Amino acid sequence: MTEETMVSSFEVHDKDVLAKARAIMNSTESPKAWADAVVEAVKRNEEWRGKRCLNLLAPEAPTSPTVRALLSSEIGTRAAEGHIGRVNRWFAGTQYIDEVEALCVELLKTAFRCRYADHRLMGSMLGNLTVYHALAQPGDTVMTASQPFGGHSSNRQDGPAGTRGLKIVDVPYDPEKLEVDLDAFAKLARKVQPKLVVMGMSMTLFPLPVREMSDVIAEWGGMFVYDGAHQAGLIAGGQFQDPLKEGAGILTGSAGKTFSGPQSGMIMWNDPKLTEPLTEAIFPVLVATHQVNRVAALAVAAAEMIEYGPLYMAQIVKNSKALGKALDERGIPMLGAEKGYSQTHQVIANVKQFGGGLDVAHRLAEANIITNKNLIPGDGPEDWDRPSGLRMGTIEITRLGMRDEDMSIIADFMARVLVDGESTETVGKDVIDYRLPKQDFYYCFDNGLPAWADQ
Ligand SMILES: *Cc1c(COP(=O)(O)O)cnc(C)c1O
Repeated sequence: MTEETMVSSFEVHDKDVLAKARAIMNSTESPKAWADAVVEAVKRNEEWRGKRCLNLLAPEAPTSPTVRALLSSEIGTRAAEGHIGRVNRWFAGTQYIDEVEALCVELLKTAFRCRYADHRLMGSMLGNLTVYHALAQPGDTVMTASQPFGGHSSNRQDGPAGTRGLKIVDVPYDPEKLEVDLDAFAKLARKVQPKLVVMGMSMTLFPLPVREMSDVIAEWGGMFVYDGAHQAGLIAGGQFQDPLKEGAGILTGSAGKTFSGPQSGMIMWNDPKLTEPLTEAIFPVLVATHQVNRVAALAVAAAEMIEYGPLYMAQIVKNSKALGKALDERGIPMLGAEKGYSQTHQVIANVKQFGGGLDVAHRLAEANIITNKNLIPGDGPEDWDRPSGLRMGTIEITRLGMRDEDMSIIADFMARVLVDGESTETVGKDVIDYRLPKQDFYYCFDNGLPAWADQ
């Protein structure tokens, strides 16, 4: 191959998967048949992932029937740029859209017990970019956590922080205790004096020392930003630390992780001085048409969180502790065992002895159990594609009404594959039998609480 053809055939996507799509398109000239192929793939996903799998992906949450229905509502075909209100909008005819958006903003403020919230972000990535755009200049230093300790690309060199031209310094971690090394942090922070410390944890088992870290950076007017993409629902439901009460100036979050709304982003704060820079970074810099169907869905998800959040999120945490213990008892080493495994929706296994995270996640998927590979402390840059960890989350299984005793059953399925080496086919059949009768999502106005909780 010449260098030129190699360059022209470069793909970041898996070439075989693209070739399969091309083969479907080459097999017929009919655009209608091409469209049907898309619809059929969506249906296959729903039949498998939606009905037959145990979905333990930590960043995934099922939405309630009402939230899901709103995502395809008519209002999502309407254009509404800008800030809420008659004079602020370019377009006329937006009075009902204003009503929906204003309800969303007010519901978010109530859900997060804060003074300001914005509803227009398409993702938490953009929430973080909002912060970096509004509050930092190229060349400024920010301190964030590296990926093996749970950090996320949105706060690293390869994400929004890097795009903004910021200098990134790692928050020091204690790899044994899985905690911020506060002494080392204070020393390093005093030296580099970061404008922002952004703690965005995709691997998250325990609360962060928000107060202690905020106090250190307050010495030179630095701000702590809590990227609560994962923890937003736990925070709103009052089952985790409340960053805005512990010294954080801003809380960003994903609406589709523990918050269990439509996939998108949210940003919350209290200080009126932040309102102009943040909202002007959102519009007109980062979003224009912001999907009003999604905003309506987010508003209802916020109302669900206000009503059901405390019980729903408490059960999520109970389930993750129970799942961590059950896996540990079956010979699968768990991180944070000495601290009770978890205070969030996640548990993390070290699956190096079973072939590593990539292989294990795919073997479990063959048995209809969906998880993801994860970097853990001790993994180096060379382990990026094949890390030692496996991350699991309890959001979906909890919303399906499962409780502590179900976690032992799920741990049995996993141990049969990993520890006993049983075939994924036989375990996979049992997983489907167990999952198929459970199809209703609870902790929402459509279905209320699970029968066992509804005394
Ligand atoms: C998932 C995640 C994000 C990105 O959130 P999206 O809503 O998917 O854009 C940002 N930060 C952290 C820590 C995350 O885990």
